[in-house]
Amino acid sequence: MSRGYNFSAGPAAVPEAVLRQAQAELLDWGKARASVMEISHRGKDFIALAAESEQDLRKLLNIPQSYKVLFLQGGATQHFAQIPMNFARRDQAVDYVVTGHWGEKAASEAKTLAQVRIAASGKDGNYSAIPARATWQLDPGAAYVHYTPNETIHGVEFQDVPDVGALPLIADMSSDILSRPIDVSRFGAIYAGAQKNIGASGLVVMIVREDLLARCPKDIPKIFNYAEHAANDSMLNTPNTFGWYLASLIFKWLLAEGGMQAIGARNRAKQELLYGYIDGSGYYKNPVDKSARSWMNVPFTLPRAELDAAFLKEAEAAGLMALKGHRALGGMRASLYNAVSLEAVQALVGFMRDFARRNG
Ligand code: PMP
Repeated sequence: MSRGYNFSAGPAAVPEAVLRQAQAELLDWGKARASVMEISHRGKDFIALAAESEQDLRKLLNIPQSYKVLFLQGGATQHFAQIPMNFARRDQAVDYVVTGHWGEKAASEAKTLAQVRIAASGKDGNYSAIPARATWQLDPGAAYVHYTPNETIHGVEFQDVPDVGALPLIADMSSDILSRPIDVSRFGAIYAGAQKNIGASGLVVMIVREDLLARCPKDIPKIFNYAEHAANDSMLNTPNTFGWYLASLIFKWLLAEGGMQAIGARNRAKQELLYGYIDGSGYYKNPVDKSARSWMNVPFTLPRAELDAAFLKEAEAAGLMALKGHRALGGMRASLYNAVSLEAVQALVGFMRDFARRNG
């Protein structure tokens, strides 16, 4: 069977060119005369890959020198706990802006480690909009403000970086990193699980301002301490070498595609096509306020839930994979990460139009 168009929310589509390159050099990688997964992370070949991947990411996101780039493990979920452990004292307030499922989880995991405050929440509106900045109740003494720029399940995305004054802003960018240009200097720290726009699960990329690393307490285990990871160039222990290698290929692919401006323009066109069709269809519906719609994850419903099974079955038969919505929301979800082409979205819209005509 051939590869379908993959709309999975994560782990998600990887550019085919990257998969082909990984396949071609799987047995024999560069000078090593072995697979990249068979060589020491402390050997010069892997060290060179690590250094080059960091430089490529710095180039892509224009990361200032005052930020460290870390390649970590544990999934974003582990970092929900590690962030308060490293950047707050136990008796200190930490502000969470919650606009969906993942922000809720992040706040919940921080509870035993710091004094969590929910500075704003979209829960009352079923996470269909972002609470206006003027309504946020920030604590000027908070260690940081945490938010989720893109909520993968609810399909809610900030279109701008919120202004939180002098408070360090920490962002879980698991599902929107590298999807369009960002100004890294607005953040204290950015972290992201790799399994959407950076490749395979099991790797977390963190971009962190050096002054925040100075806060990491000495009385936590070294393996949880970000400053220790930074001091050891993310090789405190054996990193996820294969995941890091895949990330390095993806960074090269993004640069070759024209970098963040070009990728951002392509992602803009993809989501415009899909939301434009949904809104004009009179058949499908997306529940999110237009000002907060995600470019990466588009939940939508059919007029009657009884049609869902047929929609999914026929979509799969047409090669349109992984469109089932998250179990918490039902309906459908199309994820449009970087590796999902405009052509894939055109195919999806064509199918949706045809399905609506036949099942009106
Ligand atoms: N945050 C966001 C925004 C996510 O989308 C996800 C996973 N879908 C997570 C956190 C959790 O990631 P992990 O399973 O890698 O811990």
